[in-house]
Amino acid sequence: MSFDTVLIANRGEIAERIRRACADLGLKSVAICSEADRDAPYGPKADRFVCIGPANAGQSYLNASAILLAARATGAGAIHPGYGFLSENAAFAEAIEQAGLIFVGPPASAIRTMGDKIAAKRAMIEAGVPCVPGPDTALPADDAVIAATAAEIGYPVIVKAAGGGGGRGMRVVHDPAALLDAVSITREEARRAFGTPELYVEKFLQRPRHVEIQVLCDAHGNAVWLGHRDCSQQRRHQKVVEEAPAPGIPADIAARVGAACVEACLRIGYRGVGTFEFLYEDGEFYFIEMNTRLQVEHPVTEMTTGIDIVQAQLRVAMGLPLDVTQAGIGCDGHAFECRINAEHPETLTSAPGRITEIHLPEGEGIRVDTHVVPGYKVSPHYDSLIAKLIVHGPDRATALFRMQAALEEMRIDGIHTNLPLHRAIFRDPNFRAGQTDIHHLEHWLKTQGAA
Ligand code: ADP
Repeated sequence: MSFDTVLIANRGEIAERIRRACADLGLKSVAICSEADRDAPYGPKADRFVCIGPANAGQSYLNASAILLAARATGAGAIHPGYGFLSENAAFAEAIEQAGLIFVGPPASAIRTMGDKIAAKRAMIEAGVPCVPGPDTALPADDAVIAATAAEIGYPVIVKAAGGGGGRGMRVVHDPAALLDAVSITREEARRAFGTPELYVEKFLQRPRHVEIQVLCDAHGNAVWLGHRDCSQQRRHQKVVEEAPAPGIPADIAARVGAACVEACLRIGYRGVGTFEFLYEDGEFYFIEMNTRLQVEHPVTEMTTGIDIVQAQLRVAMGLPLDVTQAGIGCDGHAFECRINAEHPETLTSAPGRITEIHLPEGEGIRVDTHVVPGYKVSPHYDSLIAKLIVHGPDRATALFRMQAALEEMRIDGIHTNLPLHRAIFRDPNFRAGQTDIHHLEHWLKTQGAA
């Protein structure tokens, strides 16, 4: 089955990114918007631009029936969900297929398996993907069994909800005396927030890095991994800076884990792009979850592999076989991405408002993914990401200097942004040396009096 028109079920920089990929492949695009996004600069650039509902995302970007209606009305044959919103919603993927359209993403069954963290862990263990120590079964109700399970893993442990997401539904336990209370509180939270009280427990790693592996699979049994990324620079569990490749990972270890990810994809009948997220500590990878969608940080992998991941995703959705093999995938140089948010430097809350002026850096190896232009009004209704500054260099040291120069050059006036934070990060000697763990940024900001 093929299609010539793609509806982009998203907004912001990723809507513009997908529109461009469609245009590059000769596909028509339909952009959608809520009433708050009527002025989105990508709207007029798409072949059609349709308002599907009010500013409240529940009534627009999260409203599956409104999106399907817009697809039918515009003759779109496929729907690209982007990231966030409905991108990991198995029921949405199913509704699209039932309407005779194509979901640009994996089969609903794969989304469902990976959305259940216990089922995901079990599938990974079966495929030989290394996981965090701990059982791949739900905790029983029996207190004695729970205590014995945690003791066997060894403290500290982390109690996690099978249906959890977005950093919620987790509790670290350092002391056996606190275990049963942590379990009952997390269970109650999980029941309310995720609709299932199922929990599991695993070892809590104290100083891990966040390293992830990008995969790409077609519908003909071909799957490849596209190298790794390091996303350890986090603030309040949100990624701030990403890089590819993750520095200092031995090639043989990465190759072994990459091959296991490919094996897992083949076993679960995966299709499209996806990311296996790992904690990495003392030379070992530990799977934590799979994201069954395109990720914000995909550009750093595009820069180092030369593969346009969004185009690849669309080609797979059209039923085409992969045009790359594992042997043909290399890693050229080094890339960084800074997520530029409209946010208040002290409160870290989003800082909406009108952008008066923008100066984007230019030059060798510099790319900016953004939807904003001078005069653009950043809406208070959605995520505060307004641009991604991406640089590539022949090696990490060059890419570091290039990013520093680009950050100095970049200007966004009229609103608060986190550009000063990025400039500070790229001056931090530990970050510059590489291999810092997921707590480093927050600790370092504290020492700078700015956490
Ligand atoms: P979510 O789906 O909510 O993002 P994840 O399973 O991806 O949940 O975990 C989110 C974050 O929680 C991780 O990036 C890491 O910082 C922390 N975390 C999760 N599991 C562990 C663990 N076993 N040890 C240490 N930290 C963990």
